[in-house]
Amino acid sequence: MATKILISNDDGINARGIKALISGLAGIGELTVVAPDREQSASGHSLTLQRPLRIEERSPGYYAVDGTPTDCVFLGINHIMRAQAPDLVISGINRGGNLGDDLTYSGTVAAAFEATLLGIPAIAISLEYKGEFHFATAARAVREIAEKVLASGLPADTLLNVNVPDLSWDKLSGFRITRQGKRTYSDVVRENHDPRGRPYYWIAGEVMPADDDPEGSDAALVAAGFVSITPIHLDLTNYKAIAPLRQWEWSI
Ligand code: MN
Repeated sequence: MATKILISNDDGINARGIKALISGLAGIGELTVVAPDREQSASGHSLTLQRPLRIEERSPGYYAVDGTPTDCVFLGINHIMRAQAPDLVISGINRGGNLGDDLTYSGTVAAAFEATLLGIPAIAISLEYKGEFHFATAARAVREIAEKVLASGLPADTLLNVNVPDLSWDKLSGFRITRQGKRTYSDVVRENHDPRGRPYYWIAGEVMPADDDPEGSDAALVAAGFVSITPIHLDLTNYKAIAPLRQWEWSI
């Protein structure tokens, strides 16, 4: 049977990044697009349970959903593609990086997480912004990675969080397997006043890559011009914390 790939994102079905992803994957398999009908960035791993969802087939195999990225992947795998599950889910290309501690906010990564939960290999692909948005570079990078995942699979419960520097293809330093790093923000909350004089607050900090692990962290390697591939999983347990916490004494 033909290779089937489910495409989603969090920037919405009309975003430049999803169009670049679709054209970059041409010929690799049969693509089904299920994506939010509007931007859903920073929606995290949220699932819509309090209202019905609508699916609009805008052209054959191209579906817009009035929900979150997680809704899209859930409906894509459990409903739209129920006759044959996809071999791979790819979420992106996100407009902006998804690095370090930002991962749990990310709708792009959440869509890939949902696929992992449903047992399907998944890639989240994001493009750093340094003034240009080289979507063609990210599309070419994800095609190479997708071919490897389709050929070799992924370890169980693992998805790939991929971040691409904002560079032309010939300026890339290469591909690197990385770990999730740390990011720091400056000027995180901006206070301003509305026309009636009431204060309002906008979460809009400058993001600074932290130099916590220049050899191995996602942010450091992207800053050095590498395509960063971080294997991540859903187990949030901090194993190093188990032993000290087991020293606690309880009353029963
Ligand atoms: Mn986004």
